[in-house]
Amino acid sequence: MLNIVLFGPPGAGKGTQSQKLIARYNLVHLSTGDLLRSQIAQGTELGLHAKKLMDEGLLVPDEVVIGMIETQLAGNTDAAGFIFDGFPRTVPQAASLDELTQRYDTGVSCMIALEVAEEELVKRLLERGKTSGRPDDQDEAKIRKRVSVYNNETAQVASYYAGQGKFHGLNGIGAIDDIFSQICRIIDANQPVAPVSGGLAADEVKA
Ligand code: ADP
Repeated sequence: MLNIVLFGPPGAGKGTQSQKLIARYNLVHLSTGDLLRSQIAQGTELGLHAKKLMDEGLLVPDEVVIGMIETQLAGNTDAAGFIFDGFPRTVPQAASLDELTQRYDTGVSCMIALEVAEEELVKRLLERGKTSGRPDDQDEAKIRKRVSVYNNETAQVASYYAGQGKFHGLNGIGAIDDIFSQICRIIDANQPVAPVSGGLAADEVKA
């Protein structure tokens, strides 16, 4: 299985790159933000509880998001692999992901971190807020809160994967297609099998 953790602060471009990666590698996209927003839309108790935290830019408790990921893994056992977008956001979430994927005799193939400076993130998210309808994208103070939660609680997840030799950092500012090519190069160099269509095999990249 090809299991990619796409990492970075809010507004780094994880969602955009995920859409391109799913098509290229035939992966299942697991975005905890999307899963939570779907719970909110359905008006579930979990959604109501999560909404308050999300609107404030705070993290939802680990056990909630871990439970959602566990359900998704169990429901997609025939998948070629997964893109984890917005998860893990804490070290306990990262440890749980290792444990959950081990149950299926697989693990995280690599972690790709999109690096973008705060001012650019704020600009992008305010722009997205004009059309996304997301309350957490419409207020500069809330956006800055999410970035500070990322810096204080989530950034250390990078060290977790660096410790496993799986961390790959990339500049997330530039043309979407250029960033996508760089991501593909990292993935192709880190997986034993060729992508579903197109792309360079690992030995071609090194040549
Ligand atoms: P963004 O990356 O733009 O902040 P997401 O859609 O990934 O947007 O997440 C929106 C919100 O959902 C987060 O601010 C947080 O409240 C909650 N959330 C999403 N994923 C997680 C997670 N893995 N752990 C805790 N909270 C999460």
